[in-house]
Amino acid sequence: MTVHTPQTQSELQQQVCQLHAEATPWLPAGLGSRLDWGPAVAAGSVVLSSRGLAGIRDHSANDFTVTVAAGTPLVVLQEALAHHRQWLSVDLPWGSAETSIGGLIARGLSGGYRQRHMGLRDQLLGIQLLRSDGVLARAGGRVVKNVAGYDLMRLLTGSWGSLALITEVTLRTQPIPPQRRTLVIQGPLAVLEPLGRWLLNSSLSPERIDLWSAPLAQAAGLNDQPLLLLGLASIDATTLDEQLACIAAKARELELGPGPGPELELSTPDPEAAAALLACGRGAVPGGDADPAGGADWLLRLAVPPSQLWTLLASSELQGLPLTMASGSGIGDGWACAAALPRYRVEALRRRCQQLGGYLTVLRQPEPAAGNAPLPAWLDAPSRPLIEALKRQFDPKQQLARGRLPGVAAPLG
Ligand SMILES: Cc1cc2nc3c(=O)[nH]c(=O)nc-3n(C[C@H](O)[C@H](O)[C@H](O)COP(=O)(O)OP(=O)(O)OC[C@H]3O[C@@H](n4cnc5c(N)ncnc54)[C@H](O)[C@@H]3O)c2cc1C
Repeated sequence: MTVHTPQTQSELQQQVCQLHAEATPWLPAGLGSRLDWGPAVAAGSVVLSSRGLAGIRDHSANDFTVTVAAGTPLVVLQEALAHHRQWLSVDLPWGSAETSIGGLIARGLSGGYRQRHMGLRDQLLGIQLLRSDGVLARAGGRVVKNVAGYDLMRLLTGSWGSLALITEVTLRTQPIPPQRRTLVIQGPLAVLEPLGRWLLNSSLSPERIDLWSAPLAQAAGLNDQPLLLLGLASIDATTLDEQLACIAAKARELELGPGPGPELELSTPDPEAAAALLACGRGAVPGGDADPAGGADWLLRLAVPPSQLWTLLASSELQGLPLTMASGSGIGDGWACAAALPRYRVEALRRRCQQLGGYLTVLRQPEPAAGNAPLPAWLDAPSRPLIEALKRQFDPKQQLARGRLPGVAAPLG
């Protein structure tokens, strides 16, 4: 695909106007790190990268808001915010850390921090975008209290570049908690389940309560048992110690139930080990390749109602699959190489998620065998007619990300 990287907004706007006049299909892009994930876009599409539109436009540290150009890398933004002891409360994405803010929002996928800080769309206060006809539009604003106009922020989050090119966003920032601790609790699902449910309803409000499958725990160098990975944060260390003691007491109480004896293993890794564990939850192999995405042919996003998470984890369809799920949202990622996960099992897993009231998105898949079409990345959503109507409004010539429309299994292409 031909990639254009305009260096100014007016250059970008000119190119979009020209593509519109020619009705050429094109794909909005950030750093281009994951463009080929999901359904293929029409051959011959031009890639318009927002990489040249980078930089922090305004940081109101006192108001906890930041306005940033879409092509700004996430790590650059986090570094700048850290000087003010603030951060954008999102996880690093699965695979390499390379990601632009626009790409992050366009994919709309968040991780375990959603437990305490909510999803990306909830942190988005304002957006500026370039429509398919080259017209610049704005929605929301630069302040936290804002009720004006249509909520295009939520519409564009997770739009996969199919509606417009995001040029600038205003986001809510958070203070970096002065104290953080990671707690790993490993043991049988039967004991982790009541503990996980108790944690979700407790007043401890951890930053994350991630549930890992046994194969992921093993890949990270731990025992071959599932685990709960908790991120605790507070303003002082004493409060954290009290929280840890409270969770440990509850764990002991639960494991002394019907089981024969102590079954849970609790550990508090130091910050370095905790960071390495979190990286394993994003697909890194300890001591392995810096870009884990290279090793996984399959990358699946699974989602079920949180109440069904434990049933999903116990399903035979998941056997052998490294998987991390956020307990509060019921959303997570699983991955495997082609030899370890035959296609029919992915189809079975999709059916299982649907039976439980959820869905499975195929983000990445191996080349299908000769004569087979790739698995659809997603199936038709119940709101398909509405999605298609919106698409026609935003992009009447079907230029943007042609062939890839979230919630529509086989869009016009
Ligand atoms: C915990 C977590 C897990 C994640 N897991 C995955 C994952 O498994 N797979 C995955 O693909 N992503 C995942 N993401 C999202 C991931 O962060 C983005 O895919 C990534 O940031 C893309 O970055 P990029 O700038 O290189 O975008 P690109 O690779 O250039 O583009 C990615 C997508 O975003 C669109 N896009 C990019 N920039 C813009 C823009 N300015 N305006 C409109 N559309 C745009 C593109 O059309 C394309 O569909 C995850 C995020 C989190 C937080």
